[in-house]
Amino acid sequence: MKDDIKQQLTELKAERKAVILAHNYQSAEIQEIADMLGDSLELSRKASAVDAEVIVFCGVAFMAETAAVLNPGKTVLLPRREAGCPMADMITPEDVIGIRKEYPGVPIITYVNSTAAVKAESTVCCTSANVLQVVESFRDADTVYLAPDQNLAKYAARHTRKKVLHWNGYCPIHHNLLAEDVVKVKRAHPEAPFLAHPECRPEVLDLADEIRSTSGMLRFVRESSLNAFIIGTEEGILTPMQRENPHKRFYTPEKRLICQDMKLTTPEDVVRALQTLQPRITVPEETRVKALQAVECMLALG
Ligand code: SF4
Repeated sequence: MKDDIKQQLTELKAERKAVILAHNYQSAEIQEIADMLGDSLELSRKASAVDAEVIVFCGVAFMAETAAVLNPGKTVLLPRREAGCPMADMITPEDVIGIRKEYPGVPIITYVNSTAAVKAESTVCCTSANVLQVVESFRDADTVYLAPDQNLAKYAARHTRKKVLHWNGYCPIHHNLLAEDVVKVKRAHPEAPFLAHPECRPEVLDLADEIRSTSGMLRFVRESSLNAFIIGTEEGILTPMQRENPHKRFYTPEKRLICQDMKLTTPEDVVRALQTLQPRITVPEETRVKALQAVECMLALG
């Protein structure tokens, strides 16, 4: 990255009292300028703890919204306004209201990969790391509804005695990975365990040695005595994996798992966002308070 961009960012960050957060799926050059790297909820929570007035969220819209929900006093910027998530856009708040009418009394668990307005209509949120714990927390319910990711719901359904109803959304990146793609890469690298994200199809998860969220995959690789791994999630995660484990090898399926929305943001966009304090992400207060309740209900579970 050009030195003048780095210099500009250092000055702008100090002037604006800003912190730069980047999701694990961002490009390597964005990860390089980030103060904090992680998954969306982890980042938003960390941002609450730092003494910054401005949060620059290098990710997609729902992540910046989550940061705005958790950090009401701070200015939240999303350097590329059009960076969205096709899965989050597969369900609307009206859809959730419809689910509630159709299944009265059934808890509605919403994956954090959803808009603030959708979270606001839900009973509780979940992440890919804690989905099973959240499902089991409804001790008196024999049925729960999980939205929007059908694959995460099917994964949860296999690990509980409860009936898990689901919305038919999916992450196009993970859903695009097929069992035959995995069989091929496993054949080429039989020594390497296959780590899959729960947003993958059930038949892909059947082939997994480990099913983990992005932070869970990073932890597994860091703590493992093995030296080679097949990674079944968006390729951006290879940047922190390789940086943390320079002597380990990582293989990916031939079919590339790349989220174009996650790759939109450039360091120049971050500079522009800090100069102009735009594009700013805000959430209407009524929605924010209701969405926060769903997030806090999840956090209370530990
Ligand atoms: S990787 Fe999938 S879930 Fe994540 S932002 Fe892209 S489309 Fe959405």
